[in-house]
Amino acid sequence: MSGKLLRGFKSHSLRQHWGLKGPFFDRSVEKLPKKRFGQVFLTDPYIARRMVEESDVSQGETILEIGAGKGILTEALLEKGANLISFEIDRDLFEGLKKKFNGQRVKFIFQDFLSFNERIKVDKCVSNIPYNISTPILKKLFKMQIPSITIMIQREYAQRLFAKPRTKAYSSLSVFVALRADVKKLFDVDRNAFFPIPNVDSTVLKITQTNRWLSLVKDEKLLDKIVRLSFSHRRKTLKNNLKGLNDLTYFLKKNGISEKARAEELSVDNFVELSNFLVR
Ligand code: SAH
Repeated sequence: MSGKLLRGFKSHSLRQHWGLKGPFFDRSVEKLPKKRFGQVFLTDPYIARRMVEESDVSQGETILEIGAGKGILTEALLEKGANLISFEIDRDLFEGLKKKFNGQRVKFIFQDFLSFNERIKVDKCVSNIPYNISTPILKKLFKMQIPSITIMIQREYAQRLFAKPRTKAYSSLSVFVALRADVKKLFDVDRNAFFPIPNVDSTVLKITQTNRWLSLVKDEKLLDKIVRLSFSHRRKTLKNNLKGLNDLTYFLKKNGISEKARAEELSVDNFVELSNFLVR
């Protein structure tokens, strides 16, 4: 490691930045993980194998991986006999990955997954994704209509994905996901399973796209807009957040919802009905 990097690494602010403490300095790391790419690498192969096991990957399936990193999950997926399409934005990881997986059934794409627009056909997505771009990744996976998505994400974020109405974690994202998928929590992962040790814990979720609710929706864009607006100021009532919407009072009364209700009190089917009611 170069002196310059070493000096940077020792500095208090950088350590704090990475959540590194005291003697955890690993001299075998050639390049510092990059915070801007959300790089925290899983170090426990047992967790990678468990993730693959519980995602029901079977031999010969094509799996999408976003953020190969140093390849710990890539390896577990290949062990299971899957074919892989694996994205990685950081070209500094190119050599290592190529060398490690030379000749195996994995196609690496060294590109930003979010700006990749070619059509690819995959059976499942299994990924430990960069947490800082969880929502755009998730939205893209939904758009690609990937039937089964097993992802490791930040624990608090995971809680929002399966939150029920009248809870603190219930948000526009919860409704967005509930409209399109079933979400099952697989298991929690402690922050100590990563290098560098991050400031957050993680959770692995399995998201199965059903589009069950969506099939009842007359105007998907309108529904997404209503949901987003409804939660735009959490403390405000639904009526205040949706100011100017004609007939809202009538709708609330008809559905037995209080005029003082906040968005968090509305169920997914309430939102579907509200948006359908507005389409005429
Ligand atoms: N799956 C690995 C790495 C997780 S860290 C493991 O479990 O250890 C997230 C990885 O995603 C990093 O390697 C980072 O470089 C990569 N990444 C970040 N943004 C990306 C993007 N937009 N497209 C593809 N890969 C990205």
